[in-house]
Amino acid sequence: MKLAVFDDWRIGVVEGHAIRDITHLVPDALAQWPKMRMNYIIENWAGLKDRIERESSKTPSLDLANIRLRAANPAPSHVFAAPANYRKHIGELGARAVTKGGRTAREQGFFLKAPGSLTGPSEGVRLPNGSTRRFDHESELAVVIGRAGRNIPRERAMEHVFGYSCLIDLTMRIEPGVGEEERSMRKSFETFTPLGPWITTADDVADPGALKNQLWVDDDLRQDANTSDLIVGVSELIELVSSVLPLTPGDVIATGTPEGVGPVAPGNRIRIAIERVGDMSIDVTQQDVRSPRPY
Ligand code: MN
Repeated sequence: MKLAVFDDWRIGVVEGHAIRDITHLVPDALAQWPKMRMNYIIENWAGLKDRIERESSKTPSLDLANIRLRAANPAPSHVFAAPANYRKHIGELGARAVTKGGRTAREQGFFLKAPGSLTGPSEGVRLPNGSTRRFDHESELAVVIGRAGRNIPRERAMEHVFGYSCLIDLTMRIEPGVGEEERSMRKSFETFTPLGPWITTADDVADPGALKNQLWVDDDLRQDANTSDLIVGVSELIELVSSVLPLTPGDVIATGTPEGVGPVAPGNRIRIAIERVGDMSIDVTQQDVRSPRPY
């Protein structure tokens, strides 16, 4: 099943080019916190799945072309992310690399992206106004956590997966000697985490370790890899993160980017496609306002 967030943070089931609104299955109380609706659906999935399948066929079918897709989960408690997790990506950034000595995600662990940086296809990416820095695309499979857990051994990790989504880890690169900000900040500008176009539930993705991971800028194929090349796979990432703190339903883990990262500029359209998971296009524009502390 494919679950999406659209318009004023409504929940829908996607079937082909149509979406069926199932927001009425979420308690009215969450109208006060509409971005939390997807977390509610995920946390209560066991009790909701049959109802959603039964009732979604009765609600009106809307054309995807006529709605605005938001981030697939707009308000996870955490967005964890793996650095240096595909061999061929390690080293391609040269002097701009933060990772030294060939260390991978297995040695470095995870970093965080601010949940406030999430965006969806209808909102796109807005680069800082007037910046001369380099901003790169990173094409990543995102894991969405279903069941909470702490100290989850990798053998049990897949029981905690709700589904998968496409994630672009937009990144402001360091400029050695000029700008060497912390990784989490450089990756947390507003709109720097496109997530979508929906969450594909885990039962539709037999093996997350065997999926094509591709990204285009305009018509140019920039990244073309397979999650079989992940150094730390999905189950080990869950073990790694949950060894530090509890995983919460709706949490997102960005699994890392393969080789081929490169710059984007206002006017570009980025397309990410992950096999069996989804295909999403994101427009790159620029913020209207120049920040008091520009980058
Ligand atoms: Mn990344």
